[in-house]
Amino acid sequence: MESSMNRRNFLKAAVASGAVLVAGGALAGCAPNGGGKGGSASEGDAVVGTAPVNFTEETDVLILGTGIAGMSAAMDPVEAGHKVMLVDKLDRVGGESFIACGVMNVAGSKMQKDAGIEGDPETKWQAYAPILEKKGETDDMDYKHNVYVYQTEWADRVASDYGAVFQPITDYMDTGAPTSMLLPGNGIGDMQAVLTPLQKGLEEKGATYKLNLRATNFIVDGEGTPIGVRFNDEKNNKPVDIKAQKIIVATGGFSCNQEMVSAYLPSQQRLGPLTVHSMGEGHQMCRALGGVYTHMDMEANRMSDLAQVTVWGYFSPQVQVTPQGRRFIKEDQSHDSPDKAAELELGYWWTIFDDQTINGSQKWNVELNMKGSPDRLVGPCGSLDELAAAMDVPAGTLKETFEKYDAMVAAGEDTDFGKKLFLKSLAAPYYAMKHFPFRYKTHGGMKITTDSQLTDKDGNPIPNVYCCGSTVADSGSDLSPNAGSGLVSGKAVVEALKA
Ligand SMILES: Cc1cc2nc3c(=O)[nH]c(=O)nc-3n(C[C@H](O)[C@H](O)[C@H](O)COP(=O)(O)OP(=O)(O)OC[C@H]3O[C@@H](n4cnc5c(N)ncnc54)[C@H](O)[C@@H]3O)c2cc1C
Repeated sequence: MESSMNRRNFLKAAVASGAVLVAGGALAGCAPNGGGKGGSASEGDAVVGTAPVNFTEETDVLILGTGIAGMSAAMDPVEAGHKVMLVDKLDRVGGESFIACGVMNVAGSKMQKDAGIEGDPETKWQAYAPILEKKGETDDMDYKHNVYVYQTEWADRVASDYGAVFQPITDYMDTGAPTSMLLPGNGIGDMQAVLTPLQKGLEEKGATYKLNLRATNFIVDGEGTPIGVRFNDEKNNKPVDIKAQKIIVATGGFSCNQEMVSAYLPSQQRLGPLTVHSMGEGHQMCRALGGVYTHMDMEANRMSDLAQVTVWGYFSPQVQVTPQGRRFIKEDQSHDSPDKAAELELGYWWTIFDDQTINGSQKWNVELNMKGSPDRLVGPCGSLDELAAAMDVPAGTLKETFEKYDAMVAAGEDTDFGKKLFLKSLAAPYYAMKHFPFRYKTHGGMKITTDSQLTDKDGNPIPNVYCCGSTVADSGSDLSPNAGSGLVSGKAVVEALKA
């Protein structure tokens, strides 16, 4: 089914979508519906802003986006000796992946096994699959399975073949923190320890990067088959056309695109975006080519604007409270608090912590946030009265909250919110950081085949175009599954290039 779009369908798609037609299949003279009403186009007619196609470069594999999905998608094609070009609209690589907290849920990686933590991805998948199936949020369990097990392969390969650095699990494995989580080099917030070696390793193996080029349209031949991509050079605003045998779309999610969020995820439309570049541009390009959106309304967690601070709860004890000083959530998670804060319309909330967090396994990140956001930090405070005054919450309420919390610690059970990890008391000096809830990721994206090829509305693969990462509904939109989904695309492209 490599090239099934007939010319009539293509003409419709091209006219409707703004896909760019390569010279030789010019549309001049072909009016919609074969002419007649509305008059026919003449030689030289053009849509303002669209220049004729002029390929200046050619590659085997063209990857749009240099986040974790795009870079992971490059691994197999580069290693197989193909010419791979990674292109990003920004003047830096890494996308949102680079600024992520860095929690990567992986089972059975070498790093875990070396630390004596048993587990293998297939067994974990068997336990996870029924939960996923029940949720009904996936179109393709085989794809999900591959993404799941490739996460482990990805972690092992980036560590051993690219020099990616993960935090030693021994730093936190005996503290009660989850050992299913891999963290980058210095811990939370150090994604450059993973992504910079990956970026450089790909380059050493022959991949090239092009920055400041924003993908705007697919370029199709006279049969409607995608054969390249048009970019806008963000430095001089001129078009750049790159020819490619295979194109992988890894442009991230759409959480920063207000119009798309309002249309597809209205539950989050009144919440500000935490980041600015996830504009759903790949989604729109793929749709213009005949691709189909799926699960666009799948609910995504909210996040604190101090995202990394919310992750501390997996690694040390904290107490999170409302602006009135009451606990409202279990603290051993990273998403429930922003979700609940948004639901309760709290406006903001606080994480209260002590030296256990400052000197714990994530001390590098704790120091970073305390120094980086002094306007959000109160403390050190020698007593709860002092802390309450610094936070501007009623001292009586805060003390009551701590009395109740300490009683539950003594009893060994959080009967209010079910906190399991680090159910421990805090002691002076106390500190607190203030958070605001934002939207920060989306799940919805392109419908694809099990090997990640973009499909049309009838489920037929659109030739030469593959999607991964947060551009795909089934990727999971987290770091490690997005990496796994990148591997799915990379492997598929290597297979396709053999044909
Ligand atoms: C603050 C924060 C913390 C997070 N923490 C975690 C965490 O701890 N664990 C976790 O699992 N997930 C976390 N996430 C989510 C995770 O970061 C994302 O799911 C993941 O990074 C998305 O990967 P991606 O490769 O699909 O997209 P991205 O990393 O966003 O990469 C997409 C790239 O495509 C480029 N691009 C977009 N449009 C175009 C275009 N038209 N032309 C060319 N290039 C384009 C972008 O510039 C970008 O570089 C966090 C997200 C945020 C914002």
